[in-house]
Amino acid sequence: MIDMLVRNADWLITMDPERRMVRDGAMAVGGGEIKAVGTTAGVEAAGYREAARTIDGRGRLITPGFIDNHQHLAPFFVRGLGDDVPLKVFLHDRCYPMEAGVTDEEAYLAAMCALLESVRHGTTTLCDPGSQNPENSALAVDEVGCRAVLSRSLTDMAGGRAMPGTFDSTTDEAIASGLDFVESHAGAAGGRVRPWFSLRTERMVSDRLCVAVREMAAEHGTGIVSHMISNRDSVEHHQRVFDGERPIARYERNGVLGPNVQLVHCHFLTEEECDLLAERDVKVSMCPTASAVFGWGGLQRATHLKLLERGVTVGVGTDIGACSHTTDILRIAQYFRVYRDIFEDASLMPAETILEHLTIDGARSVLWDDQIGSLEAGKRADFLLFDLDRPEWVPLHNPLSNLGHGVSGDSIDTVVIDGNVIVEAGEFVNLDARAIMARGREAATAAAERTGLAHFATPRWPVV
Ligand SMILES: [Zn+2]
Repeated sequence: MIDMLVRNADWLITMDPERRMVRDGAMAVGGGEIKAVGTTAGVEAAGYREAARTIDGRGRLITPGFIDNHQHLAPFFVRGLGDDVPLKVFLHDRCYPMEAGVTDEEAYLAAMCALLESVRHGTTTLCDPGSQNPENSALAVDEVGCRAVLSRSLTDMAGGRAMPGTFDSTTDEAIASGLDFVESHAGAAGGRVRPWFSLRTERMVSDRLCVAVREMAAEHGTGIVSHMISNRDSVEHHQRVFDGERPIARYERNGVLGPNVQLVHCHFLTEEECDLLAERDVKVSMCPTASAVFGWGGLQRATHLKLLERGVTVGVGTDIGACSHTTDILRIAQYFRVYRDIFEDASLMPAETILEHLTIDGARSVLWDDQIGSLEAGKRADFLLFDLDRPEWVPLHNPLSNLGHGVSGDSIDTVVIDGNVIVEAGEFVNLDARAIMARGREAATAAAERTGLAHFATPRWPVV
């Protein structure tokens, strides 16, 4: 008997190469793997009629789990302490002190709280671009039951200001700590954690660190993630520090650019740099709400659209839950529709592209598309059941329209990851979410006070 059979789903969006959408859909799952997917009649005809657990798909729409291509877990507790300031102020005066100042327990709870929100809203895999505390994030990912690419944040140059904690590393220290994390976390959480190398930010990594990371990633068969020219200032800063050289040219000179590299933001690429990323099959993560919140001008530059024209794989990310103020990746992806207003073109970023970013392209961007990102036999069983018996699904003429443009992750009833039911009826099955949130609130207050950030919490309006 098979482990799980989902049957009679109103709609099943496969995201397979043909993008098949199945009516009266079914899926058989065994050992965490999809054994069969298709119509209920077809899956039954393949011999999958009984299962240890059967999920009734009537009134449900099924999609692959969503991939959040960029979310920082450790500084989650800075949410509400960094509003309305430019990026550098946010990073140096809020985010970095919090990230470097939290205890192991607080870092773990920050990751748990970020994951509670993310997974509840459909994120089954996320990519954290590097933190001081990736071990604690790995514990949280294991406990919640999702997947994640994690890495130790590597920097060996100050970003223009004195840096707190382990941000202030020598090149040798950065190399050793990055390698230690990758070696110690290979296969962690039953393979649901994949350790990568992080070149945290283009302007804070030396040539020697770039070369070392490239070589270590090749040796260990991992990816490399790096923030890249999110705003005008990051380009100018880089050129000041590196004798006028632009960061993409420097990464290319150091042999970093390749198919195992994910660059984040990339708003200030030139046309030639877009060509080069396409040529090197570099993956890109776009975080529309981060650009909107910090006022980078990234959406009006729309490098994103230029990369898509060139066939570059693009995924979507939250960035920091503290700046986007939500980790509901579906809502964040829908934000790309702002391109329509900027360019006076209603055809930009259709629902289909938004859903590809969230699923199969997101999976490619974290180099995991052989196992996740679509619902096909042989892939891991990561999927979502949306509850169609909610107002946002009425009327339901074309589910791609509701899904890509209207509904939020609140519509999700059930989240399955690796064949395990993680969320059911909107609640975590094996976690006491309320107890974790209570501990998280206390830990966030303690961390804000200890790191000297608590005074940023004062509202502008009088509290009576
Ligand atoms: Zn980021």
